[in-house]
Amino acid sequence: MTTGMIFGIQSRSIHDGPGVRTTVYLKGCPMSCPWCHSPEGISPHPELAYQDRRCVLCGDCESVCPTGALSMSKTKGLVLIENDLCSRCRRCQDVCLSRALEVVGRETTVEQVMAAIERDSISHGQSSGGVTFSGGEPLQQPDFLAALLQGCRSRGIHTALDTSGYASPEVIEGIAPLADLFLFDVKVVDDRRHQELTRVSNGQILANLRWIVSQGRPVILRVPVIPGISDDEENLRAIAELARSLHPHQRVDLLPYRAIAAEKHRRLRREYLLSNVQPPSRGRLSQIAAYLEEFGLAVKIAG
Ligand code: SF4
Ligand code: SF4
Repeated sequence: MTTGMIFGIQSRSIHDGPGVRTTVYLKGCPMSCPWCHSPEGISPHPELAYQDRRCVLCGDCESVCPTGALSMSKTKGLVLIENDLCSRCRRCQDVCLSRALEVVGRETTVEQVMAAIERDSISHGQSSGGVTFSGGEPLQQPDFLAALLQGCRSRGIHTALDTSGYASPEVIEGIAPLADLFLFDVKVVDDRRHQELTRVSNGQILANLRWIVSQGRPVILRVPVIPGISDDEENLRAIAELARSLHPHQRVDLLPYRAIAAEKHRRLRREYLLSNVQPPSRGRLSQIAAYLEEFGLAVKIAG
C-alpha cells in the first residue's frame, strides 16, 4: 500500500488552477526560500505547531505529555516546547480545548486521499475544476504523487502540479505524463542569486522546465512577487525572456507576497528573515504585469 506524508487537504480552492479545486499539500521541501508561505511543508516529518495567542496557560498539555517536551512558562506567558523530545503522539493536541497546539503532518494512504478528493467531485464537475498537488514540494514523494495522479486520471479528474521543479530528470520524466497541468514556480533566474536565496541551484530546475514544455505539457509559470527580492527589473526581464522562450504568449501568474508567512513561521518557532517586507501594492503588481505584457506574455495577478 503506497503511503505519503501530507499536511492538509483543502476543498474549494480557487487559486491553484482552473475551476474549483481540491488542493492536497504534500510535506517535505529541499529548498529554503525565506519568504515561504507554507513553512509547515518544509520538513518531511510531522511537527508540533503552537499558537501562543490562543493559549490560556491551563497546563493540561504539560500534564499529558509523556516525554516532558512541554513546560509552562508563566513569566513568558507561553508553553515552552523542546522539539527533540516530542514524539508527535498528539496527546497535547487532543487535550487542548483552545486549539493552540497541533501536530502538522500525517502519514496517509493513496486510498484515503482519493476518498477525500471524491467527496469534492460535484464542485469539480460543476466548475471544470479538479485536484492540485502542492506542498512543500510534491516531487519529493514521487511514488506517492504518481499513484495519486494515476488515481485521478483513472477517475477522469483534472490534475495540476504546483512545483518548484526541483527534482531529478528521472522523477520529472516519470511524473510529467501523468499531470494535466504544471504550475511551475520561477523565483529568480540568476543562478547565483537563486542559490543565495534558496540554497539550491536552478540549473536543473530550468532544464526540467524546458523539458516539460518540449513534451507539450501545459505549463503556467508562477512568479512570487517579493519586494526587494524578486521584483527588480533585471529579474523581471530575465523572467520575461525565459517565458517568451517557452512560448511567445506564455501564461505568467504573479503571486503577491503575503504577510501571513511571518505568523506561520512563528507557530513553528522558525526564524523569519523578512519581517520588514511589506506585501506589494495593487499598483505595483499592475505595473509589473504591464511590464511583462510588453513582452507579449499573458499575465494574471493571483488573488
Ligand atoms: S492545553 Fe492548550 S491552552 Fe492549555 S496550556 Fe497547553 S497549549 Fe495552552
Ligand atoms: S505531541 Fe506528544 S510528545 Fe509531543 S509535545 Fe505533544 S504530548 Fe508531548
